[in-house]
Amino acid sequence: MDGIERNKIEELAMKYAVQNAMKYGKAKIEPVMAKIMAELPEYRSQAHEIKKIVEQIVEEVNRMEKADLEDISSKFGVTVEKKKQEGERKWPELKNAEIGSVVTRVAPEPNGYPTLGHAKGLLVPFIYARIYKGKFLLRFEDTNPRVEKREFYDAIREEFKALLEGAERELGLSPGKWDEEIIESNYLPQMYSMAERLIEQEDAYVCTCDAKKVRRLRAEGVECEHRRNPKERNMELWKEMINGGIPEGGAHLRLKTDMNHPNRTMRDPGIFRIVEAEHPIQGRKYRVYPTYDFSISVMDSLTGVTHAFRSKEFEPHVEVQRTILEKLNLRKYEMIQFGRVTVEGVPLSKRYIRPLIESGILQGWDDPRIPTLRGLFRRGITPEAISRFFYDLGPSKVDSTISMDAIAAYNRKILDSVVPRYMFVPDPVRAVVENFPEGLKATVQVHPSRHDMGYREIKVPAKKGVAVLYIAGEDKKTLKEGDVIRLRGLSTAVVRSIMPDEISLKHISEKKESEKVIQWVPADQAVPVKVIKPLSSYSISLVGGFGEPAMKELRPGDMIHLIRYGFARVDSLDRTVNLIFSHE
Ligand SMILES: [Zn+2]
Repeated sequence: MDGIERNKIEELAMKYAVQNAMKYGKAKIEPVMAKIMAELPEYRSQAHEIKKIVEQIVEEVNRMEKADLEDISSKFGVTVEKKKQEGERKWPELKNAEIGSVVTRVAPEPNGYPTLGHAKGLLVPFIYARIYKGKFLLRFEDTNPRVEKREFYDAIREEFKALLEGAERELGLSPGKWDEEIIESNYLPQMYSMAERLIEQEDAYVCTCDAKKVRRLRAEGVECEHRRNPKERNMELWKEMINGGIPEGGAHLRLKTDMNHPNRTMRDPGIFRIVEAEHPIQGRKYRVYPTYDFSISVMDSLTGVTHAFRSKEFEPHVEVQRTILEKLNLRKYEMIQFGRVTVEGVPLSKRYIRPLIESGILQGWDDPRIPTLRGLFRRGITPEAISRFFYDLGPSKVDSTISMDAIAAYNRKILDSVVPRYMFVPDPVRAVVENFPEGLKATVQVHPSRHDMGYREIKVPAKKGVAVLYIAGEDKKTLKEGDVIRLRGLSTAVVRSIMPDEISLKHISEKKESEKVIQWVPADQAVPVKVIKPLSSYSISLVGGFGEPAMKELRPGDMIHLIRYGFARVDSLDRTVNLIFSHE
């Protein structure tokens, strides 16, 4: 039995032993043997040898912790089904929710590229909509034209789409997309007529105090003179706001509540203001825009939302929003707060990231150093990992600080069982192998525990018994004369001598045990590889080296694992394969 056959048997034995152990608590030799023999009848003549392998593996499996068992079994796809069902029951129930009638939404403002901080705000309402077999809306909250741009609408659509599709694949929540897209600014005429209704009802008035005075009077709980204006005068001023008779900052429409209210946000809050800026969709059609409190409460009601999720920081505003709904006699809905997410040591704010881009330190919003969703995707953090991570985090109201290491751990778990392995030698050093048999070739497994992913052959030409390879500079440093090493998948060799820029090896045919298995690349077919490693928001490191011949077949976007190095995503290909390092 050769090495490849042995690997194949070991892998099958592992799979069935784990399955057996998961089912009965302990694995047994006989059922595992029976399954292997049924699957590989051509090996019956070697049953004795196979049994030895099975005995070893069953013993190993029976020593494992439960968590390890689960880990391995999920690699083989044994418990994937079970995991999905468990998940759906784990999230707390929604108040006043019925299957089929829940409507949720995500309401991003198109004022920047979405970051990891937006993922919770997207996934929480999406997951609930799918658990309750309801409807999920994407609503662009675009009523602050000075900071909003077309490119941000598109970025949000693209990133959210990728994340939701990932959530469908990973969590089984289908369909992984929003059911309807709503542009809030298209509702401005309706919002204007609501404003006018409030003026008519004497529930709103136009105040022309400057911002400083408004702030002072609100703090003191004192009413301004405009509060007593008759509704006709208010309507006149409102029309002037709309028609351009009053400049920006000259007036705003305020809700009439109570200037002595203990919750200060309730002291006659502003509900419309003038913004003289071109709107990315509406152009110059409007100059009066609602405030956040007004638009969010009215829009959730108008678009049929039954459960509106909001970031906890807006909690003092809930009362204002409820008051607006009451005064307009609009349909009420559940308002649910959730905690914010910050990433340990990583700035999420545009205010921080923008200057880094403008100064050229970062290449753009998709720079793999920053936690924008496109930056993370470019780095090879999968939508599946992000959605599984936030699924496990749950919809909690508590603010949480997460670490990139935790996200990387989720990503590793998802990629580990599916991505192909390649040999890569960073900082390469020539290795000359003597006594090399003609025609010797390496057979490397595409994935160590998945023989279904196949094998690759690497031919290594030898001239007069000498083959030339590259090995990693780091590996060379650890070797000394006389060491026996295993060149992965190819040959066993003895270190003959070590020179500053070269190492001399000798192939030996007898099988000697060796602890050191190192990766290598044939010198005549070495593919240049560049790895960009993000270190912080400011820094990257660049590692050059050679990859095995098959790496030139890679395509941008491919995820790979570099043996003894880590996971990476193919960013681009020219004569060089350009990779971005994901994590170990
Ligand atoms: Zn006033």
